[in-house]
Amino acid sequence: MKSKLFEQKLDELIKTAKDVRKNSYTPYSNYKVGCALLTKSGKIYSGCNIENHGIMSICAERVAFTKAISEGEKEFEGILVLGGEDKLVYTSPCGYCRQFISEFCDKDFTICMYYEEGKDGKLVEKTLQDLLPDNFNL
Ligand code: ZN
Repeated sequence: MKSKLFEQKLDELIKTAKDVRKNSYTPYSNYKVGCALLTKSGKIYSGCNIENHGIMSICAERVAFTKAISEGEKEFEGILVLGGEDKLVYTSPCGYCRQFISEFCDKDFTICMYYEEGKDGKLVEKTLQDLLPDNFNL
């Protein structure tokens, strides 16, 4: 379940993800993703996907996490992921991002996937446990 803090910040998270999605660099797939990562202190970090002609593309989720972690953030409340503009289904974090997130977040970490159907916004709410029930651990 998303927290009270996540609920309070939801509009801001959606706006942040929409705004940052415009900065996606996707000359190969043209599939733009934006996300907004909420820390436990209420700060929001944005991220968009950045492609590369090699295999070094980076997803919006990992961009947001690396920005936050490099600024000293350690505690995360949840993330909102917004996928391709004309896709009428939600975008779920890839396997690599799920494992990456598991390094920094508990199993109850909120992962909300937002998409628009006409004028209506739809929110699909999961936890890290839902998306990665058996993560790799050393
Ligand atoms: Zn990913």
